[in-house]
Amino acid sequence: MTRAGRVQPHRWVVLLALLAAFGAAPASAATDAPGGTSPAGSGSGAETPAGSSGDGGGAATTPAAKIPKVSRLVCLSRCGAANAAQAEVAVAPRGIVRLAGRNLGAVTRVRFLGGAGTADDAGSPVRAAEPKSLRVRVPSKAVTGPVQVVDRFGQASPASRTSLRISGPAPAPAESDPQPAPAPPAGPLDPAMSSGHAFPVLGPHDFGGAGAGFGATRDGHTHQGQDVMAACGTQLVAARGGTVQKIAFQSAAGNYVVIDGDGVDYDYAYMHLQDPAPLTVGQHVETGGPIGLVGQTGNAQGCHLHFELWTGPGYYEGGSPIDPLPALRAWDAAG
Ligand SMILES: [Zn+2]
Repeated sequence: MTRAGRVQPHRWVVLLALLAAFGAAPASAATDAPGGTSPAGSGSGAETPAGSSGDGGGAATTPAAKIPKVSRLVCLSRCGAANAAQAEVAVAPRGIVRLAGRNLGAVTRVRFLGGAGTADDAGSPVRAAEPKSLRVRVPSKAVTGPVQVVDRFGQASPASRTSLRISGPAPAPAESDPQPAPAPPAGPLDPAMSSGHAFPVLGPHDFGGAGAGFGATRDGHTHQGQDVMAACGTQLVAARGGTVQKIAFQSAAGNYVVIDGDGVDYDYAYMHLQDPAPLTVGQHVETGGPIGLVGQTGNAQGCHLHFELWTGPGYYEGGSPIDPLPALRAWDAAG
């Protein structure tokens, strides 16, 4: 059943085409040279914000934008009763909140800080921020506390003075919910995928909102994988052991690695790694073996793993990516 561990050129043509479609940035062909990132493998955790979309601004210094600041929170959907209070805005999980403030145009992510410490922090990507306003969906794991925004240069705002009070379980979907329903669920999970795997992110994580899912609309294309939000530097492991087929950098995918799974007709792609995967092409990796760290290289909005699952007996004609979320949930639950 398992295919030969060789790299099949036709297949890579397809992968590169998909990668090209993956980001809004013009795909500057996937060379193996890690474009804007610091070439020194180890380096500081706080990587330079390499011009994330091939805009040619490769200066060594950060094109510092002004530090963002959040001055007001407004609940837009799934709002709690205490909305009138000044010091707190109440919202149910998966509700939508508008943040008003200054210098928000470059914001890519909102952190829900919860209580003291970072263990209960949750994050959510921001798709379309304006200079003074942005909207964000409250992740299901967020807990009551202030929020903070982070821009694409890695600059974080101070914690908001107003707290977001996360009310109990989400109510039934409200008709007023301005967001479209998530993509329809995939078919039943292939039994071959329901065991013998490891969840690829070894640390706190969430699956983001509908925009993080397979099939979500992006600028001019659809999202071919599932985003798994986690802090930069979180350890990534192989969901399934297999043969390393590709390690490269691409303007949209950032540092990525593709592994041809052992004994299954699937390929596993991991993108936006902080550094090039510490592996070599042709190497065998065990299920659960380390493959790199969560990052935000390439066209990534905040730290996360972009995970793709590829199948298709017709892969010589072009493999097809499938929705990996059912498998990810199964592995998450089993882990
Ligand atoms: Zn993604």
